[in-house]
Amino acid sequence: MFKKILVANRGEIALRIQRACRELGIKAVMVYSEADREAKYVKLAEEAVCIGPAASSLSYLNMPAIISAAEVTDAEAIHPGYGFLSENADFAERVEKSGFQFIGPTPESIRIMGDKVSAKQAMIRAGVPCVPGSEGELPDDPAAIRRIGKTVGYPVIIKAAGGGGGRGMRVVHTEAALINAVQMTKAEAGAAFGNPAVYMEKFLQNPRHVEIQIIADKHKNGVYLGERDCSMQRRHQKVLEESPAPGINRKLIERIGERCVAACKKIGYRGAGTFEFLYEDGEFYFIEMNTRVQVEHPVTEMVTGVDIVKTQIMVAAGEKLPFTQRDIVIRGHAIECRVNAEDPYKFTPSPGRITMWHAPGGPGVRVDSHIYTNYFVPPNYDSMIGKIIVHGDTREQAMARMRTALAETVVEGINTNIPLHRELMVDAKFMAGGTNIHYLEHWLEQHKR
Ligand code: ADP
Repeated sequence: MFKKILVANRGEIALRIQRACRELGIKAVMVYSEADREAKYVKLAEEAVCIGPAASSLSYLNMPAIISAAEVTDAEAIHPGYGFLSENADFAERVEKSGFQFIGPTPESIRIMGDKVSAKQAMIRAGVPCVPGSEGELPDDPAAIRRIGKTVGYPVIIKAAGGGGGRGMRVVHTEAALINAVQMTKAEAGAAFGNPAVYMEKFLQNPRHVEIQIIADKHKNGVYLGERDCSMQRRHQKVLEESPAPGINRKLIERIGERCVAACKKIGYRGAGTFEFLYEDGEFYFIEMNTRVQVEHPVTEMVTGVDIVKTQIMVAAGEKLPFTQRDIVIRGHAIECRVNAEDPYKFTPSPGRITMWHAPGGPGVRVDSHIYTNYFVPPNYDSMIGKIIVHGDTREQAMARMRTALAETVVEGINTNIPLHRELMVDAKFMAGGTNIHYLEHWLEQHKR
C-alpha cells in the first residue's frame, strides 16, 4: 500500500480523498492555489503545497507544478479527483512517466473514453447498447450529413466528440436547421475543446439519466455497484441524484451492469468508472463513460456500503478488489443534494464570506463539504460548496430525512440553492419518482420568480 498520496484537487472532493487516506493510514499531501489557502483540508493537512495563483490554468491545471509538488514531498501516487486534470490522458501519462502511480485508469483508457466517438465505438464492439446515430464523426459534405439525419430521424442532437460538462450539444428538429447547427457546434467545439469533431444521435424525447458505477482492479476483476438516477438536471448539469433509480426492473439493471463489467474486461479498464445511459421505455442507451470518481458517488456508497474512494486507492496500489459481485447488496435508498453558492432561482454565482454555517445531522445523514463559518467562497471555481447525502430504509424515509436535513442547514452570508432543494423534496412528481431529464427545467419555467 502507498505511504503517501498527493491530492491534485480542491473543495469537497479534496477533503473526501483526505478522509479516505486517513482511514487507510496513508499520508495525504494537499495542493492549493493562493485562493484556497484557508480551505479546511489545507489547514488539516499534514503537508500542503501551494501550486500557484487562483486561476485554475496556473494552479489546478498546471501539470508541472503538480508533478513537482509530488516530487518534493516524496508522494508515490496522485489522486486527481473529478474535473480539472482527472480525465486528461496526457496528465495521467506524465504522472506515470515521472514515476508516480496515477489513481485512475490507464492513459489509453482515458483517451478512448475521452473522445465520445471512440468511446461509443468501443461500447458497440463490447455489446453495450448505444443511442442510435451516426457511425462516427460527421463528414464535411452537407449532402452526406443530411442523409445521416434522414436515417437517424428527427429530432437529432449534434454533440462534440470532445465535449463535457453539458456543453457542446445542439438539438435539431428539422432538416432545414441541420447544416447550420452542425457548423455552429463544430466551431464551438473547436474553440472550447480543441477538437471540432462532432457526431449525431437521435434526440430521445423523455429519457431518464441512469448511470452504472463500476470498479475494476488490475487482476481482471470487476464489479458494478448498482445505478444512480441523475435525471434532475438544469442545462444538462446534475442537481440532485439518488440510488436506486425508482421503478426500474432489477433484472434489467443486473443485465446492463453485467454488460458494463464485461466491457471493462474487454477494454482492460481498471479503477472506478461510470457508464452513463439514457433510459427510455424500458431500454438503456449508452451516452458516455466517465473515467474518474463522480460527484454523486456517495449515494452508491450509502446503499452498497462500499467506500469507492478507498477502493480506488487500493486497486491503484495493485490490490485485488476486496469483494465480488455476490457481496454487493443494495440496501435502502440514498439521495444527494448538491449545495451550490448561487441564487436558487436565477443561478447567478454567489461567492463571498460565509458568516454562519450549521451542518445537519442525525441518523442516515452525511455531509461532504469543506466549508465552515467564516470561510470565503472564492469566485474562481465551480459554485458547488458541498453535498448533503441521506440514507433511509425506503425512498420515503430518505426523502423525509432530506427534508429534515435541509430544514436544519444554515448558510448565511452568501446565497445557496438550498431553498430550491427544499421545494423539490415536497414536489409531488419528484416524490412519486421517475421524473425525466426535462422535468426540472419545466418546473423552473413554471415556478419563475
Ligand atoms: P456531458 O459529457 O457534457 O455531460 P453527455 O453526453 O453525458 O454530455 O450528456 C449530458 C446530458 O445531455 C444527458 O444527461 C442528457 O440530459 C442530455 N443528452 C445527451 N444526449 C442526448 C440524447 N441523445 N437525447 C436526449 N438527451 C441527451
